[in-house]
Amino acid sequence: MKRKVLAANWKMNNGPTAAKSFMEEFLRGYKSREDRTVIIFSPAVSLTAVSSAIAGRRDVLAGVQNIYWAEKGAFTGETSAPMAADAGATIVLVGHSERRHVFGESDAQCARKCQAAAKAHLRFMLCLGETIEQREAGETESLVRRQLRDGLSQTPNLISADFMIAYEPVWAIGTGLTASAADASAIHGVLRGELRQMIGTRADEIPILYGGSVNPGNAAGLLAADDIDGLLVGGASVEASSWLKIAQA
Ligand code: PEP
Repeated sequence: MKRKVLAANWKMNNGPTAAKSFMEEFLRGYKSREDRTVIIFSPAVSLTAVSSAIAGRRDVLAGVQNIYWAEKGAFTGETSAPMAADAGATIVLVGHSERRHVFGESDAQCARKCQAAAKAHLRFMLCLGETIEQREAGETESLVRRQLRDGLSQTPNLISADFMIAYEPVWAIGTGLTASAADASAIHGVLRGELRQMIGTRADEIPILYGGSVNPGNAAGLLAADDIDGLLVGGASVEASSWLKIAQA
């Protein structure tokens, strides 16, 4: 049975105190399910609050929203993969749209981050997706294929690496606009096909999530669609009450 992945990206919200309250409320209400994995991508400063709240659980993972590829050194303000792991992260978000578009992260940088995560024995979730201009120019498929190949280009032993993909059209993130389940499934099919060329049948085990203005009202419909293996949720995951509805959708 393939488990659906429900991932919360808090963005720059929920410091350690709020994270602790969130986790108490969420874990009080969330009934563990065999067919679900929940991930909380918190800011780095809140990782220990999340990881200590879920200690001993295998169905809820602590994730970090970003890492730097060096292990340590003179990189003020950055968090390395081993440091995130030490704080309890087991998965890393790489190439989120806000990292690419607000902080100018390139595919080459994403590739180094995926490589660093794998080297530190962390899973990673590579995010990709098109802008509205790229969509209107008919470039979506070629773009996501390229982002996928480039982002994974430095990961050692890709065929056995533990990773996920999140398709997040930039025009749908934080805008209230959502890709239809059929449109998202079609792009997931493109990504799955590309992954098969890269790693053969192992591609079928790689979760491909959709993200972009998911909320308690549309989550179940998206989750039910072909080839949507889970959801990556930003704004609607910041409050425990809203996230609970989505995680149980
Ligand atoms: C995200 O941050 O990954 C995201 C999809 O944001 P939102 O759900 O707010 O669109």
